[in-house]
Amino acid sequence: MEIDPKRSRERMVREQIMDRGIHTPRILSVMSKVPRHLFVEEALTPSAYGDHPLPIGQGQTISQPYVVAWMTDELDVRPGMKVLEIGTGSGYQTAILAELDALVYSVERVPELYELARNRLDSMGYGRVRLKLDDGTLGWPEEAPFDRILVTAGGPSIPQPYLDQLADPGMLIMPVGPERRSQTLVVLRKEGGRIGRKNLGQVMFVDLVGRHGW
Ligand code: SAH
Repeated sequence: MEIDPKRSRERMVREQIMDRGIHTPRILSVMSKVPRHLFVEEALTPSAYGDHPLPIGQGQTISQPYVVAWMTDELDVRPGMKVLEIGTGSGYQTAILAELDALVYSVERVPELYELARNRLDSMGYGRVRLKLDDGTLGWPEEAPFDRILVTAGGPSIPQPYLDQLADPGMLIMPVGPERRSQTLVVLRKEGGRIGRKNLGQVMFVDLVGRHGW
């Protein structure tokens, strides 16, 4: 089935993102720009702009467009910031961060997804994004501190390495358990050596698997 990607994206931004209250111009602009249909397998192209997550293989999913826009908006990513993403998956969220002119570091633990994301991001002109195949619950200590940390898988608690590797001032967003597949989206703000926490609402992410995860 043929789709018109540009029109599908405009509609997605209008109906799924603006109508739910996100109006930050640069968030709307990058969500209108990144070709989400190229981050899923060809058979799923017709549903790439639907209001839901989609499978990306290996039991993992690419998040619902609104959730990507919401998390990115809450994180307040500014040009030139160093951003750590945990769970590269398809690379879609990675591309959104790169389009915001952040210096993006993204960690994925599944080799097949890492390879696919690397090739995809390179071929789409996002070669500057740094990717690593590893247990992302350890963060990326060699590149710390990070101005922003965005975790796109749900864990039982916030891994200590993230708190250590977060810059001051800095912000982190992560879906936190206590159960699998049902989490509260949590924002942490580090400032002047203190950490503040805000709960944004219920979400459903795949598991963060690793030493400081499930
Ligand atoms: N941001 C992704 C969402 C992918 S789903 C996107 O836009 O497509 C979450 C991803 O987190 C999966 O690919 C999963 O393999 C990965 N993941 C789970 N635990 C991880 C860990 N400890 N380290 C790195 N990646 C992890």
